[in-house]
Amino acid sequence: SKTPVGFIGLGNMGTPMALNLLKGGYPIIATDVFPESGKQLQDHGAQILDTPAEVADKADRIITMLPSSPNVIEAYTGPNGVLRKVKKGSLLIDSSTIDPSVAKEMALASEKMGAVFMDAPVSGGVGAASLAKLTFMVGGPEEEFTAAKELLGCMGHNALYCGKVGAGQAAKICNNMLLAIGMIGTAETMNLGLRLGLDPKLLTQVLNMSSGRCWSSDTYNPVPGVMEGVPSANNYLGGFGTMLMAKDLGLAQSTATDTKTPIPLGSLAHQLYRTMCARGYANKDFSSIFQFLREEESQ
Ligand code: NAD
Repeated sequence: SKTPVGFIGLGNMGTPMALNLLKGGYPIIATDVFPESGKQLQDHGAQILDTPAEVADKADRIITMLPSSPNVIEAYTGPNGVLRKVKKGSLLIDSSTIDPSVAKEMALASEKMGAVFMDAPVSGGVGAASLAKLTFMVGGPEEEFTAAKELLGCMGHNALYCGKVGAGQAAKICNNMLLAIGMIGTAETMNLGLRLGLDPKLLTQVLNMSSGRCWSSDTYNPVPGVMEGVPSANNYLGGFGTMLMAKDLGLAQSTATDTKTPIPLGSLAHQLYRTMCARGYANKDFSSIFQFLREEESQ
């Protein structure tokens, strides 16, 4: 039988990911700062403990799925963090989207304790997490990639090795900058079409058969009523929070500043998502940019 896997961070993504590891036959030992977050997993047979340190004491392979850099720093190096109790030779995989420099710091701190840290952020959203169809972008020692893939394969279709630690985060930040730009473009395009009297389902069909097609138009359409099973069909609940997208665009902005790279549309996307956070959209899915643009125009 398989040895237990630790899982830290049981939110929109972490819960379905951990459920897929359970389905894959791995006993799960998990924790979250909000104990209620572990309820669903517990009902499926996972053991829920109080702190990351306790998880590290019981499992030598651990996956973290936390909101942002400060939460990852806390969960690894805090007073009840993983590194307080980590076993030598442990494999620590962080799938959160965070600053690549924080991933490097966590790798150094882990190495001091005799453990290996890899970054493996994901693309795919909550739907893909539930269906085990995520894409993982992995950074860290290449010789550990096979061991990481064994677990990642239970939660996703693709795992791409991107380079040394932090490289997965770099790839993820690039993807999400393009995702944000594409979503804003799709939302403003759909709104213009509506204003021109076009039916949104018809316009979506046209885009998806034409050169304007993108993931936001054909898989995650932001206009209510165009698609089922997406956040726009559910008052923009669940999915990928606007606050998290604003965080990722902030990472794009700061890494672009560090490398003196022009990102004119990425910067504009960052400002738009930050403005949305300040106007009450923080916890809605990021496709609510469509609703935001509609409100702006009516003022
Ligand atoms: P979420 O906010 O739904 O879940 C995060 C969970 O972590 C929460 O349950 C929170 O209580 C817990 N947490 C926070 N600090 C903790 C700590 N110190 N110790 C233990 N638990 C702690 O976020 P999510 O949507 O699941 O996203 C997680 C990460 O994945 C983010 O970095 C996000 O950018 C990325 N991501 C999300 C999506 C998506 O569609 N939601 C897609 C790809 C990547």
